[in-house]
Amino acid sequence: MISERIISIITYILGSSWIIAVFYAIWTSIQEKKYRAAKRLILFFLPSFFFFASFILPENLVFYYNISLLITSLLLTLFIFIFDPHKFKIGNDNPQKRIDERDIMFSRALLIPDTEHYNQYYSKNRDKEKKDNIFRKKPGLMSPNSLKYNPLSFAAADASFFTVSQLASAVTGAVAQKKVILDNDKLILFLKSWAKSLGVISIGITQMQDYHWYSTIGRGVDYGQKVNCTHPFGIAFTVEMNPTMMASAPDSPTLMESAQQYLNAGNIAIQLAQLLRNLGYSARAHIDGNYRVVAPLVARDAGLGEIGRMGLLMTPELGPRVRIGVVTTEIELLTDKRTTNPNVLDFCTICKKCADVCPSKAISFIDREEINGAIRWQINQEACFTYWTVIGTDCGKCIVACPYSHENNLIHNAVRIGLNKTSTFRRIALKMDDYLYGRKPKQKAVPNWITLKKYTIKDS
Ligand code: SF4
Ligand code: SF4
Repeated sequence: MISERIISIITYILGSSWIIAVFYAIWTSIQEKKYRAAKRLILFFLPSFFFFASFILPENLVFYYNISLLITSLLLTLFIFIFDPHKFKIGNDNPQKRIDERDIMFSRALLIPDTEHYNQYYSKNRDKEKKDNIFRKKPGLMSPNSLKYNPLSFAAADASFFTVSQLASAVTGAVAQKKVILDNDKLILFLKSWAKSLGVISIGITQMQDYHWYSTIGRGVDYGQKVNCTHPFGIAFTVEMNPTMMASAPDSPTLMESAQQYLNAGNIAIQLAQLLRNLGYSARAHIDGNYRVVAPLVARDAGLGEIGRMGLLMTPELGPRVRIGVVTTEIELLTDKRTTNPNVLDFCTICKKCADVCPSKAISFIDREEINGAIRWQINQEACFTYWTVIGTDCGKCIVACPYSHENNLIHNAVRIGLNKTSTFRRIALKMDDYLYGRKPKQKAVPNWITLKKYTIKDS
């Protein structure tokens, strides 16, 4: 019968598509050097057997078998993509008062005992002095005495950080006397397209809010001065951190990559700010060590992602495996909307993979709490930073373990679409991620060109 033939053909097409999809997933995993996932994916060939079982069934049963298989597959697909029982409410996640940059670890780490800034800060923050004295006794970030010291990669990371520091004089600058008046859409199209051609992954614009700005400067020559927030618009963008370099976290390639992407984000921010100044509009680049804004909050409100369990921006393209750059400006720009994606936060609520892999136990396992008026997760920044000062690198194990950090390719993007669909898909995807990559993914070997087994150090 013709209808029986059609049902059989649909069944074979579905079975063949499944086999092709599994082959493609295995091939992608091999390309990504994720061999555990590649091996475990072989098991996924098994369901395809059901689609070709009609070859071994008696002829009179084939039609009924195929039709029940198709109905079961359809119901299962509908269940995964439609059944959405866990609705997540974001609530108010905007801080009620500005963050003081002097409270962040990068600022506190620069305080030298018995100096004016040190005494001033800790006289008001006795509790923090006790905690900070723990990391002060450790070898230190990028120290030759730290556990992960590698003279080549530490020197390379230091070279990148040094170069970023040299950009500080260009974050602001003279504004052209004459303003170029042009169509807002054209300017935004140009800005975004140019930024993407420079290596930016995502870019958005937001109206600056009070909570975007630090209250007080915590680094550099202006330490202790109030932040003067005059620019009403902020342009935020992300750049990718290379997955191969990050895969050996917490070893030194992660530090090299981190430093390199601070530099790349800084370079691009300075180029964008200078472009706006050349057009006659005041603009400031916010770069590593020289921020006046809380970059993840500006990026979130510019529509680039949500702030996840590990306190980092979770982007739809690469999860937290990004660095953020920001430019603030006076020119009125059409803003992007915050994406307001409760699905990412729902996934973070159940996932907790970053908390599981964190060697310093700095990431919370509990649900979001109210901190400074905002419902959010907060990491124990002292525990995290202290671990950095022991190993000498900025760790990054949480970033690598995050299921959203997978490569930006067809397979992972298909999963990302599903993650955004239903809470059922998210719960299944989490189990799959654990099965394929491990609840605590294994650290990858340091790339050969970075590995250094033998060296001696002598006085110059
Ligand atoms: S590892 Fe899981 S819990 Fe942590 S940030 Fe990523 S998705 Fe959220
Ligand atoms: S960087 Fe390392 S120590 Fe810090 S929170 Fe992430 S996993 Fe934990």
